[in-house]
Amino acid sequence: MLSNWYIELQRVTLLVLATTFIGFFFDHALIGLIVGLTAYVLWNVRQMSRLESWLQHQELDKLPLSEGLWGKLFDSIYRQEKEHQSGKRRLQTIIDRIQQSTAALQDAVIMAEYDGTLEWWNRSTESLLGFRSPDDGGQQITNLIRDPDFVEYFESEDYATPLVINSPINPNMVLEISVTPFGNDDRLITARDITHIEHLERMRKDFIANVSHELKTPLTVLIGYLETLIDYSDDNDRWLRIFHQMQTQATRMQDLVQDLLILTRLETTEINLEEQPVNLNYLLENIAAEARTYSNGEHQIILNCENEIEMSGSYDELRSAFSNLIINAVKYTQSGGRIEIKGYLDRTSIHIEVIDNGPGIDQKHIPHLTERFYRVDESRKSDTGGTGLGLAITKHIIIRHNGHLGIESRLGYGSKFSCEFPIALLSQHQQLA
Ligand code: ADP
Repeated sequence: MLSNWYIELQRVTLLVLATTFIGFFFDHALIGLIVGLTAYVLWNVRQMSRLESWLQHQELDKLPLSEGLWGKLFDSIYRQEKEHQSGKRRLQTIIDRIQQSTAALQDAVIMAEYDGTLEWWNRSTESLLGFRSPDDGGQQITNLIRDPDFVEYFESEDYATPLVINSPINPNMVLEISVTPFGNDDRLITARDITHIEHLERMRKDFIANVSHELKTPLTVLIGYLETLIDYSDDNDRWLRIFHQMQTQATRMQDLVQDLLILTRLETTEINLEEQPVNLNYLLENIAAEARTYSNGEHQIILNCENEIEMSGSYDELRSAFSNLIINAVKYTQSGGRIEIKGYLDRTSIHIEVIDNGPGIDQKHIPHLTERFYRVDESRKSDTGGTGLGLAITKHIIIRHNGHLGIESRLGYGSKFSCEFPIALLSQHQQLA
């Protein structure tokens, strides 16, 4: 750069010297000097104007030719502009490829602004959600997908779990919608057709419900006859042992069928919750008394309710949920252990907790505990007579009451099962107090 600057300096010096010399020759050296400098300034202004008009017209190939520093300046701008343009072309090719592959996706992909203004969508969006291109561009997504569940979901900004709705253009099509915030707080919305999966899921539920229902009567008959057989085999120890074993296993099957039927009923979302005011203090006292009988004095069972709590919900379902947690605590805690049942309120929630100092549960099992038939290996071996459905039922009931089940545990220290319900479920008179 220094050498360019040096050459330019030489050039201006030579020009000024030449004009001064000519001026001197005519006895007007100063005028010669002024003419030389003016010519140099005018030449620079001309180069600037060429540069300006070249940049203005964006005709890259019509590069102005020039000498010295200006020539170099034109060359380097030309090179940079070329690189910029080829970079732009490369990026455009990548964007085109991404758009082509997204357009070919079977899932609907929609890009929208933070407030739901539609920016872009792929072809599948038109067949799954009925968007029309280009007419619907710039519309609000909630004007096109009007399902109140979707509107609430989109506006909630809590997209942790996907939403399942029916397609606005085909009520028989079931869609799973996910929203992902990206970039400048924009939204990427995807919709997947899960009609087939939903259909299989319904078949699975119907199958379990039908089998359980069909097994109920034969099992009742079997257990009835076994009781009669036990009554009639008073003196025969060998037969009595066999009948007792058969009775235990048949009762276990009956429990399983019973739990499966409860679970199926809870999973059928069409069945509405039978809501009534439930006095939790009374309910928990009742379950604690049952747990004491079940424990046979082997555990210390403490009930600690800080507040009077009356919440709206299904008495039978809540009883079943809390009872599962409390009886589990008794079942899995060694004798001499301590079980505390706590109930309290805070500004946002109703809390019920069951805390034991039993063997605890390894962290790796915790996410699976509420799955159907999931039982921690140890409990399988010790054969507690459980069905592995208790926590699945409890979780369903809590979700039906808009609540959340939390499980914390440490091996060797104990476990804490906490149920949290929205404070809005608290009976009206308590909320006002
Ligand atoms: P089950 O009918 O086997 O009790 P659940 O669904 O109620 O089925 O519980 C699932 C598993 O979670 C149990 O098999 C047991 O291993 C574990 N579990 C539940 N509650 C406790 C607890 N309080 N302490 C230790 N383990 C527990």
